[in-house]
Amino acid sequence: MVILKKITFLKEVITQKSAEGHQIGFVPTMGALHEGHITLVEQATKQCSFVVVSIYINPTQFNNPDDFKKYPITLEQDILALTKAGCDALFLPDTDEIYPTGTANLELYELGLIENTLEGRYRPGHFQGVCRVVNRLLAAVNPDYLFLGQKDAQQCKVIAKMLQLTNRSVQLVIVPTIRATSGLALSSRNKRLSEEGLIKAAALYETLLFVQENIEIGNNDGLIETAKTRLLSAGFEAVDYIAIADHSNLADASHWDGKTTVYILGAAFIEGVRLIDNTIFVG
Ligand code: AMP
Repeated sequence: MVILKKITFLKEVITQKSAEGHQIGFVPTMGALHEGHITLVEQATKQCSFVVVSIYINPTQFNNPDDFKKYPITLEQDILALTKAGCDALFLPDTDEIYPTGTANLELYELGLIENTLEGRYRPGHFQGVCRVVNRLLAAVNPDYLFLGQKDAQQCKVIAKMLQLTNRSVQLVIVPTIRATSGLALSSRNKRLSEEGLIKAAALYETLLFVQENIEIGNNDGLIETAKTRLLSAGFEAVDYIAIADHSNLADASHWDGKTTVYILGAAFIEGVRLIDNTIFVG
């Protein structure tokens, strides 16, 4: 696996590989890699003959500076895991490389409803930051396929919209969420939890399944309130949201028609760490 820090060198490698007829697959990450990331890389190696992974903790997507400061870094382990998974190139840029004119006064994307609902409501500016970094990474890598995790369902929708807005022809591949045996979705942020916190955190997925099992045609507001209470009694300190949202556009679907495929999504804090998760429910 080659490790590249500069866009110029990365572009040279990709241009050569594309000219040789390789399909380029790209997996953007913020590092502190776990089996969820590695599954994305393995999926990419199945579909593409040259796989690029980026590790870059993007400052413009953190609305909470403390979250940015505490973001786990495990670079040596990441390099070993990526080599084993069959990654061909690791792109490891500095902020000067991604944002050469600084991180102030950057471009805005017209994302519509999807920007300000759910995660967007609790993390203002987050998805603008996500679009900025992914657009820059795509310009550097110029891949044929882009691999994203279902765990960040709203991020997948936002990036799909950004690809439309920027007319990028890359094909999006969405990979299902990888979970611990407890059901807890794997996340780099789990590395900040104590052993006890890790056990308790499984309640987030359990609660989403509880909503899925009890969803009814009509008003589900009472069910959502019960779900929040369950999370709090299971040891979560605060719940940002438990929501039922239309699968196609993430509009509120808590008044369910019995037919629409929905996401059941949640975001909550445990030991000061904010976790998110979702399930898909086909009506
Ligand atoms: P991150 O490093 O958290 O920015 O994640 C990089 C990519 O890995 C994103 O596309 C995530 O959705 C994906 N990802 C993170 N956790 C998981 C998981 N548990 N299962 C599948 N994909 C994941």
